[in-house]
Amino acid sequence: MRYTRYLRIKIGSLWTSGFKCILAGEILKYFTWAQICSVYIVEAKNVFMDRTEIADLGEFGLINHLTQNIELQNASSVVGVGDDAAVIDHFGKQTVVTTDLLLEGVHFDLTYTPLKHLGYKSIIVNLSDVYAMNAIPTQVTVSIGISNRFSLEAVDEFYEGVFAACDKYGVDLVGGDTSSSQKGFIISITAIGEVATDKFVRRSTAQNGDLLCCTGDLGAAYVGLLFLEREKRIYIENPQIQPDLEGEQYVIGRLLKPEARKDIIAFFEEAKLVPTSMMDISDGLSSEILHICRQSEVGCTVYEEKLPIHEEMKRAAFKFEIDPTACALSGGEDYELLFTIAQGDYDKLVLNEQISVIGHIIDPVEGAHIITKGGNKHAITAQGWNAFK
Ligand SMILES: [Mg+2]
Repeated sequence: MRYTRYLRIKIGSLWTSGFKCILAGEILKYFTWAQICSVYIVEAKNVFMDRTEIADLGEFGLINHLTQNIELQNASSVVGVGDDAAVIDHFGKQTVVTTDLLLEGVHFDLTYTPLKHLGYKSIIVNLSDVYAMNAIPTQVTVSIGISNRFSLEAVDEFYEGVFAACDKYGVDLVGGDTSSSQKGFIISITAIGEVATDKFVRRSTAQNGDLLCCTGDLGAAYVGLLFLEREKRIYIENPQIQPDLEGEQYVIGRLLKPEARKDIIAFFEEAKLVPTSMMDISDGLSSEILHICRQSEVGCTVYEEKLPIHEEMKRAAFKFEIDPTACALSGGEDYELLFTIAQGDYDKLVLNEQISVIGHIIDPVEGAHIITKGGNKHAITAQGWNAFK
């Protein structure tokens, strides 16, 4: 038992050459960091790693250990880790703040989530909310609650992911807290960003006649989750059966290592575009469209044929005999941006192939609906599944 537990905690240790993720006690899968890669089966007993008890360091020792190499990157980070509070000066710009709580067993499952990926994703989901305001994230605070089942090495892996995301997106870790937890891993992250005065974009300001757009492709993370949940179930029933995730790198990568759309916010700035409304897609496209419609008091028409669906997602969805459109509408965890923009900006918009125009905003009395490929009209519901049953 202890061995299995040790292996689960050990997830994601071989950092420089990719890392090994264990779905279960007996089998290791070899994943690269950038994306889940081809699958190898490795004898679990080949894995060896030291275990340092966090209790030996104490809370201040742990904080010191975790924050000792921080170098502040932003001029706005006046005082970082090490005082009672951080000091941030956005030099006349407006400050954007968002916070998120992630609980083991509710928001993530450590059976198949490598700790480094978890650290990375925890930052990404917060940065995505800052970008969704048309702002640039500049600082984060990271607080964790951990039980004694986690070693210092395990916490280090989590923070490697945190720092990898901070580096990539140019944000400073300026504070946080650590605490022991009775059960489970608890993560609370706050992200802070800046936006030029009056450039921030709300959800509530879409206008009748605007184009409705989204970035990237949708639904893949959900299908990735279906694969991992299926393999977990199979493993629980029979630990001798090897996980079968071969060829599903794209959808699993979209779930385990999402990215935030920093590039799109940079594109808006460069192209001098300001969306009329915007939010990120974390709960699923349908649900987010309804937020914009309700808060802006508008209706919308979405075209099924315009939804950005990746070929890999479509192929994977068919394996589960589910409709790729339903996945795109209701999947969630895409961390793409959903926005509306004036029709007159269409010519600039099409310069970016990462942006899809999926519909347009109409009068509120007409409601929110989708036109299927077959020409049928369905009301959009928060659970898009129902519309297609
Ligand atoms: Mg959001």
